Amino acid sequence: MAGVELRQLHRRFGDVVALDGIDLEIESGEFVSFLGPSGCGKTTALRLVAGFDRPTSGRVFVEGKDITDVPPNRRDVGMVFQAYSLFPNMTAVKNVEFGLRVRKHARGSRKARALELLELVGLGHAADRYPHQLSGGMQQRVALARALAIEPRLLLLDEPLSALDAKVRIQLREEIRRIQTRLGITSIYVTHDQEEALSISDRVAVLSHGRIEQIGTPSEIYGAPATPFVAEFVGTMNRIESTVADPDDGRVTYDQTSLAVDAVRGRPRGERVLVLVRPEIVEVEAAGTAQNGLVGEVVSQTFLGSVTRLRVLAGPTEWTADLSAARAAALPIGARVSLRFPSAGAKVLSLEGEEPPEPSDG
Ligand code: ATP
Repeated sequence: MAGVELRQLHRRFGDVVALDGIDLEIESGEFVSFLGPSGCGKTTALRLVAGFDRPTSGRVFVEGKDITDVPPNRRDVGMVFQAYSLFPNMTAVKNVEFGLRVRKHARGSRKARALELLELVGLGHAADRYPHQLSGGMQQRVALARALAIEPRLLLLDEPLSALDAKVRIQLREEIRRIQTRLGITSIYVTHDQEEALSISDRVAVLSHGRIEQIGTPSEIYGAPATPFVAEFVGTMNRIESTVADPDDGRVTYDQTSLAVDAVRGRPRGERVLVLVRPEIVEVEAAGTAQNGLVGEVVSQTFLGSVTRLRVLAGPTEWTADLSAARAAALPIGARVSLRFPSAGAKVLSLEGEEPPEPSDG
């Protein structure tokens, strides 16, 4: 039985279509992220699951039970929000106890349970501190403990890390995942940060304009984007508009240059396609004078720590290639270079009948 099932969820606000028919089954114990740009409907979908809002049409099921008409306080859902939503006048332990108090648990048992949860999130030592005495990351840990204290069937997290600095964000997302796995609690995580979604989830649902563009494991979403939108939004991707030149041999034409792309084999000759190439498989070499193939000029270099990112103008497209710092050092801005990528490493999407995808904000 599915932990959560969304069936044909629609939500309109006047003329605005926030959700345009969401169908999704989440397994019991699964961790699923809703990923997409601002305004794509992520928060609306989460609010419908939490019960803070009602769908225009469609149904929400939790473990087989239709809860569409059940009020939020009877849904058995734990929530963690973006803003630190702790009660400022209560200590950490009192905050965690809150849900148990509302549910009329005995005083002694609820305190013991709250302390257990604070231990679980690594804050056993800070039980008597007030929110203003805790860092942002610690406050979100308390919020997580509070959401988990009621032993909800479902954990909903709405951009819970976006107010934290980068290092704490990574630490805490790993911790959320560890705790979620340990408790086996079905979870939905809303984020616009693709790295966060890919790193934390069993599956990622990429949303755009109130619809699910693609749902899959992080490696499916990253390695085989199903639409130009997903290819654009998830990770950095070279998107090379080309034409199928030789479907038998697997070749496309890009800017009067013939490129080998295995994935176009068997496609119609003359079809317009988007060839997708990740920066980590692009090879860049200093171009000899009689160089054939794809030749361009290095226009920028950005040091990213583990790799250096080169932008190379070759044809109408600015290509992105990630190289080791040592290799990049030999290819300064202005250098003439040749580009290659393994013919089996590129994915292909048809551009016939496609509108150009919108640029992402993340
Ligand atoms: P963000 O990441 O910016 O929070 P989101 O993906 O969570 O974006 P939603 O908040 O779900 O997006 O909004 C989806 C669409 O519905 C947007 O166009 C938004 O303006 C609209 N919308 C959401 N709530 C309301 C409301 N209460 N009244 C009117 N329009 C709304």
